[in-house]
Amino acid sequence: MDPLTNPATGLEVHQFPCLEDSYGYLVRDRESGICAAVDAPSAAAVEAALAATGWTLDFVLNTHHHPDHTGGNFELKAGTGCQIIGPRADNARIPGIDVVVGDGDIVAIGRHRARVLDTPGHTRGHIVYVFDADEAVFTGDTLFSMGCGRLFEGTPAQMWDSLQKLRALPAQTRVFCAHEYTQKNGHFALGLEPGNRHLLARVREVDQLRSLDMPTVPSTLGLERLTNPFLRPDSPELQASLGLSGAPLVEVFAETRRRRNEF
Ligand code: ZN
Ligand code: FE
Repeated sequence: MDPLTNPATGLEVHQFPCLEDSYGYLVRDRESGICAAVDAPSAAAVEAALAATGWTLDFVLNTHHHPDHTGGNFELKAGTGCQIIGPRADNARIPGIDVVVGDGDIVAIGRHRARVLDTPGHTRGHIVYVFDADEAVFTGDTLFSMGCGRLFEGTPAQMWDSLQKLRALPAQTRVFCAHEYTQKNGHFALGLEPGNRHLLARVREVDQLRSLDMPTVPSTLGLERLTNPFLRPDSPELQASLGLSGAPLVEVFAETRRRRNEF
């Protein structure tokens, strides 16, 4: 059994590195064998993961339109006959899309249910998939470990809104994000909150993992709440570092994001 499987519910998760610094994911209902890829960074990488697991693909669940998330759509659909599910708001930009979903919709992978949340900011149509019962969320490029996506198509207010939806999930929720950006994120975060002992411990752990070329993902929502500066605009230390003590949280968030762009 893959170590990322939830033994209580039987949702199997197979995580694999691909492209430069991406993670691809296969999720599967052990009982029925129904299987989905969360995003399709490259057809070859997803096909290799299918070959390694012996699983057969039924769905691609896209988070947003960027090529490092949809580049494998056409080829996987042609090769496996899978259905492509993606954000309604990005309908026209998701290659091969069959089914559009949006906030509050449920996507069933066998007995397992993923709740769709609209999380605009990185792109205007970005969505995430929350497997509530299985305690897992696939966050695409909205939330990274100790980071968040760049604001290519949205405002800070939109992204902060989106991140607050994720921040509210239970602490034990495992966070499966689309990129291994954790180490750089962590060192940026430490510059803003050098007194955060949770952050210090996490950065040490991440440095160690990366020196062994091991993944830092998945994280948990509880850990992110303690260490991710983009979920912590209410931290007095963070606010003071930015010269924004007592400022509205959206302003603190916006300034944190702006500084990360230049880090
Ligand atoms: Zn992206
Ligand atoms: Fe990406």
